Amino acid sequence: MDEHQITNASSISNAEIIICRVQTKDVRFPTSLSKLGSDAMNEAGDYSTAYCMLHTNIPDPEDPRICGHGMTFTIGRGNELVCHAIELLARPLVGRSLSSLTRNMGATWRWLVSDSQLRWIGPEKGVMHLALGAVVNAIWDLWAKAEGKPLWKLVADMDVEAIVNLIDFRYIDDVLTPDDVRQIWNETRFGWEQRLAEVNLDRGVQAYTTSAGWLGYSDIKMTALLTEAKDAGYTHFKLKVGGSIEEDKRRLRIARQVLGNSGVLMVDANQVWGVNQAIEYMKELAEFKPYFIEEPTSPDDILGHGTIREALKPYGIKVATGEMVHNRVMFKQLLQNGSIDILQPDACRVGGFNEVLTILLMARKFRVPCIPHSGGVGLPELTRHMSIVDYLVVSGERNLLEMVEGLNDRFVEPAQVVDGFFKTPRIPGYLVGMKKESMEMFDFRGNGFWRTEEAQPILRSHPRDPGPDGPTYED
Ligand SMILES: [Mg+2]
Repeated sequence: MDEHQITNASSISNAEIIICRVQTKDVRFPTSLSKLGSDAMNEAGDYSTAYCMLHTNIPDPEDPRICGHGMTFTIGRGNELVCHAIELLARPLVGRSLSSLTRNMGATWRWLVSDSQLRWIGPEKGVMHLALGAVVNAIWDLWAKAEGKPLWKLVADMDVEAIVNLIDFRYIDDVLTPDDVRQIWNETRFGWEQRLAEVNLDRGVQAYTTSAGWLGYSDIKMTALLTEAKDAGYTHFKLKVGGSIEEDKRRLRIARQVLGNSGVLMVDANQVWGVNQAIEYMKELAEFKPYFIEEPTSPDDILGHGTIREALKPYGIKVATGEMVHNRVMFKQLLQNGSIDILQPDACRVGGFNEVLTILLMARKFRVPCIPHSGGVGLPELTRHMSIVDYLVVSGERNLLEMVEGLNDRFVEPAQVVDGFFKTPRIPGYLVGMKKESMEMFDFRGNGFWRTEEAQPILRSHPRDPGPDGPTYED
């Protein structure tokens, strides 16, 4: 890549970077007020980040290049539990040099999941694994900043042995070995200069939008947003379903009227159905020609997804899942069993970029496309790197990526879609960071939004919510 296209590309790697403090922030955006994110399972979420900052010895607290930023995504209550888990996991990083962690990032990853007492309340799933995603991504962010490169470029520049070193092969070496990784890397290298040129022209990752399709939106709002998205260059659109069959048919009919037959429609049920119910329901929606059904049933039901996939094949409907599939072992089994047409790993639910890369590599081996889950605050900012890495050096295929608009401008380098394609991130780092003013305004424990009158209906809506004055885990 032309180095001139990367902002602030100077490296700070000459300095020995030592992690000296871990800081977490419980940041919550009141999206339940607008129904952004509403679906059949999640009626009114408040998009939140359990945020992790790794402060270093470089003495300029205002310079974001020298602080590693990572986060995981939740939808509100319980975000404080993830923050506390981040502190528990990241404490052993204090005093460690960055180079001692990145020299063998696969070994570092294994070390972080190996505290046996913390492992007991996972292992590699749930709150602990969400927290691991934030910590691991913060290390990657710091590493990329130190090297003066956006994460996708840092990874694309690695040689194959460095890539092999990123992967923890425990539990997956029955389907993916170091030699498989070498073979994939060498095969996909062919023609990568052409793909790199496209990435540099912001044509590496095609976007689809979920922004019009939330279940809580009125017909008028949905129609306006679909029209706006179509005019902005989108060709692929996702709608939430699973509330009521008649309502879904009505909404899909409206969508087809706006988009015509050329627009590609996807639908997402967010796990509300059992296996048989999913099959029967989707047969009813087949007339609207959905490209795939996302999360038709429990994310843990590997065999059930296979049953649904077989039953929907005659209707031309593919099956997708992944946003709540919690680790590489489950992705391995979905692939081994032929349960799935499309994998949708989340940048934070699995254990950060190391595990994401492992899933991309397994998907490439089984020739199943990855269309990462981005439906949450901060997720498009991370997943665009994943999809570029996938395109450049893993699958070589230009797969779709989800874009959700509404909170992108909270970040230093917001995800942006132009003419239906993601703009390529160019600032060194991975998440790079949330804007300081946004973090302060929506800090759940701070003196901003959550202490205003506007916040009260949300806080009063749930008897278990202790609010900003509830107990903190540092007390
Ligand atoms: Mg979804």
